[in-house]
Amino acid sequence: MIHLEQHGPVVAIRMSRALFGRPIYWTAAYWVDGLLIDTGPSCTAAELLRALDKMPVEQVVLTHSHEDHIGGLAAVRHQFPAARIYASQRALSTIQQPERLQLQLYRRLLWGIPKATPDVMSLDETDNQICTPTHLFRVVETPGYSVDHISLFEPHQRWLFCGDVYMEGKEEAWTPEFNMFGIVSSLRTLTSLRPEKLFTGSGAVRRTPQPELHAKIRQLVTLAREVARLEIIGLNTSEIVACLFKEESRLAFLTRGHFSALNLVEACRAYNAIFTSELEPHNSYPAPGDRYSRFGRSSIDPLKSEPSDENDLAG
Ligand SMILES: [Zn+2]
Repeated sequence: MIHLEQHGPVVAIRMSRALFGRPIYWTAAYWVDGLLIDTGPSCTAAELLRALDKMPVEQVVLTHSHEDHIGGLAAVRHQFPAARIYASQRALSTIQQPERLQLQLYRRLLWGIPKATPDVMSLDETDNQICTPTHLFRVVETPGYSVDHISLFEPHQRWLFCGDVYMEGKEEAWTPEFNMFGIVSSLRTLTSLRPEKLFTGSGAVRRTPQPELHAKIRQLVTLAREVARLEIIGLNTSEIVACLFKEESRLAFLTRGHFSALNLVEACRAYNAIFTSELEPHNSYPAPGDRYSRFGRSSIDPLKSEPSDENDLAG
């Protein structure tokens, strides 16, 4: 199923596989001024082409190489053979060989399998900016949910197309690919741009993005601090999951463990470890397999070695 929403000159195109007439999971593409940002999953590609009947595509930019964002690309390329297609340099190999995604069954069922698309150019070739007849979009590197993730910022309108960097709601389950240091840093980059409209990868368009971005950073940093506190008293990852979430997320069952609270807690531990390893003398590094237990022995408080989040905490 597909829904179109007009936001001034920007058209939000929300796409999802439907179950009993209801959407399972929305992914968005956006069209503005001949530029298509992302292409949705392959299972809705035919509907996307029908929606684009009255919206000619001259350029395509992909925020990252996940299947729910690149799946419609082959169809768009077929319909608009002259369109120029761009993605970050790091995304190109996956877009050209989508089998590199190694899709689990739930991803194939939910979104379908993307077809390989050649002739995708690196955004480096555009000096990291995209010009349309009336707008100039700056490319901002925003890794974290994937290593190849970029966002697009239009500084005059203060529009920010952020792909999956900003996810609504409480974090309960992550994949092993998600990197908390990258995600928190990317969210801080987004706030520094002071956007006035945030166009997210799910199609939710936020009109007051600053407090929401700060709230998301605060949510993640607070979770990492809670994990650190539990590490100090010697709990292992499963015990921390039980303590903070009571039980493993339902998503872990549905995705056969690809998304899990366990991964999220591991990501917090890796994030916390960055701030302690910088300060600890090398001879106090833990033995292999004892990676996180140093919090219990160290006199350094990992919570105090993080960068200040005063701004985030102020909202
Ligand atoms: Zn994604």
